Amino acid sequence: MLIHLSELFTREGKREVYIARFGLSSVAFGSGLYEVVQAEPFELVFTGLGGRKCSMKGDSSLVLRTPCARCLEPVTFSCELHFDQELTPDQDGAAQDADQEKEPYLNGCELDVDQLVCNELILSLPMRVLCREDCKGICNRCGTNLNLRTCTCDTGPFDPRMSVFQEIFNEMKEV
Ligand SMILES: [Zn+2]
Ligand SMILES: [Zn+2]
Repeated sequence: MLIHLSELFTREGKREVYIARFGLSSVAFGSGLYEVVQAEPFELVFTGLGGRKCSMKGDSSLVLRTPCARCLEPVTFSCELHFDQELTPDQDGAAQDADQEKEPYLNGCELDVDQLVCNELILSLPMRVLCREDCKGICNRCGTNLNLRTCTCDTGPFDPRMSVFQEIFNEMKEV
């Protein structure tokens, strides 16, 4: 969804409310893929500030789904986004102020809502998503989900006293 802002940049005091819709069904970030389960339309309020600036305010809430970082079971969680920034139109390829970073979601006077939400989402996503704080993960030998079952693999806490025997055992196997 694109929102055209040219009038807001030129008319100080002009106020415009848009119902913004996020149109992507998934967002890739780092090595993770986040499926968008729910994205309600949300209000974005723009106010012309004069001097080719306008303010943008709004709140959005998304429900996302991604595999648990430890056990790979899908985890559904919600993410609250808060928008409160000043926008300046970028001059389509023309020289920009060096200290002014180009916003990826603003192209000339067009605001790309999908880009805007993605941008904000990536900043607010947790570093890793767990199905629960104490998720036991999966056994790295047999692949059993250890939240559901215990397996018979020896994955107990590493006991340094045993390491000597483990090494001997490994050497015997290699021969
Ligand atoms: Zn988990
Ligand atoms: Zn196992």
